[in-house]
Amino acid sequence: MTTTSTTMTYTSRGMRHRRPRRSRVPLLVSLAIWAGAAGVLGLWWSDTTSVVGPAAWLTGAGRITGLLAGYACAVLLALMARMPLLDHNIGTDRLARWHAWGGRCTVSLALAHTLLIIWGYSLSSRTNVVDQTSTLVLHYPDLLKGTAGFLLFVATGIVSARAARRRMSYETWHYLHFATYLAVFLSFGHQLSNGADFVGDRLAQAAWYTLFLGVTALLARYRFAAPVRRGLRHRLRVAAVRPEAPGVVSIHLTGRHLDDLGGEPGQFLRWRFLTHGLWWTANPYSLSAPAHPGHLRITVKAAGGHSAALARLRPGTRVWAEGPYGSFTANRRTAPKVLFLAGGIGITPLRALFETLPGHVTLVYRARRTVDLALRGELDAIAARRRATVHYVVDEPAERSAPLTARSLSALVPDLAAHDVYLCGPPGMTGAAIGALREAGVPARRIHHESFAF
Ligand SMILES: Cc1cc2nc3c(=O)[nH]c(=O)nc-3n(C[C@H](O)[C@H](O)[C@H](O)COP(=O)(O)OP(=O)(O)OC[C@H]3O[C@@H](n4cnc5c(N)ncnc54)[C@H](O)[C@@H]3O)c2cc1C
Repeated sequence: MTTTSTTMTYTSRGMRHRRPRRSRVPLLVSLAIWAGAAGVLGLWWSDTTSVVGPAAWLTGAGRITGLLAGYACAVLLALMARMPLLDHNIGTDRLARWHAWGGRCTVSLALAHTLLIIWGYSLSSRTNVVDQTSTLVLHYPDLLKGTAGFLLFVATGIVSARAARRRMSYETWHYLHFATYLAVFLSFGHQLSNGADFVGDRLAQAAWYTLFLGVTALLARYRFAAPVRRGLRHRLRVAAVRPEAPGVVSIHLTGRHLDDLGGEPGQFLRWRFLTHGLWWTANPYSLSAPAHPGHLRITVKAAGGHSAALARLRPGTRVWAEGPYGSFTANRRTAPKVLFLAGGIGITPLRALFETLPGHVTLVYRARRTVDLALRGELDAIAARRRATVHYVVDEPAERSAPLTARSLSALVPDLAAHDVYLCGPPGMTGAAIGALREAGVPARRIHHESFAF
């Protein structure tokens, strides 16, 4: 183990710690989602006078699952609309987890809806399920399109399953996911033209249109118009590319009006470099230094095609940045003492927070080898200026490496249980760190974690 320490007794002159209020947005948003689902069930309830016999039970269950699947589609799209209010208060990674869970529910609901309706209709018309399926698909209004939408949904669900996702590049997975927009569009018509809860009910139809048009407006506003507007306003360009460690470079960017871009330390943006081979994808990278009115910086480790190509960027390359996103900011902090725990390239958001977060701060930065400790010179300078402590811990040589345990962390950071911990690193390291921190007595609500993989 190599540990370098710069002693710290930081005085908070001019940087007083303020205890933030816990955001109520996550609770309110989940309440609103469940209330909407209850409203959708109310629609079915108000239209149903009695349910008698197996065919009616099956068809009733099919109607409910269909209504809920339609509603869930709107919610899923809204969660991924990248609305700043949701993103900053709930966090991009948590929204992505909600979206992934909701996606599984939606595909299951759509599947259940299809099977229950076919079964219920075939019982009431006394036909076999194959004939009933072809009657429904070929003769009911909008159901051919609805079937295509359903098949696209199921295909996206299969592609998103963890095992399948691991076999394809992020971009392929991401662009295949766009098929869900087409699936929602294709299946929308059959809900209104066949859904017993909508036919002849103008109010219900108006509510459904409002829901879907509202979500479309959010997507158009935040996923398409905002990035274009920002690109035109800020006119970001690459100013310089500087090596930081083996396989790690910093990209320095200049532009106009960057002070109203609003990026806080700890946040990330999706960066689209308008050059050959890179313009068609926007990848997330955290700000590795506090945003400056005329200058931004990201620090990138070569992990695959996109990140490796950034080392070859030429000064002057135009850049579009979408964001800032993420809630891994000073707002999460609840205690006066803070530990930043970084693994490898996970140092980037922590570097910006280390410079700016007021109060008593300690940084533990783990890497495989000493040469992999990117940004070390500036971390030392910040530590000296703030009189903060930095511990560098490297894994090689193996016989001298320190495992990430409650004991080793407590030895480095006295009074560990009283700290807020900001944690960012590769999945294996963060899993071990969370276990060690919990064992050392740090409550789960004080462990703030940024994930570099959605
Ligand atoms: C919130 C956040 C902040 C990040 N900050 C940094 C940073 O400051 N510095 C840094 O070096 N890396 C950062 N990353 C990781 C970085 O985005 C990926 O390493 C990079 O996009 C990999 O792309 P690739 O084409 O080089 O490799 P690939 O082989 O295509 O991807 C490797 C892995 O990176 C992830 N990934 C790829 N593209 C995306 C994307 N568009 N959105 C989300 N995940 C993706 C996937 O999990 C994928 O399996 C961050 C990731 C996230 C989610």
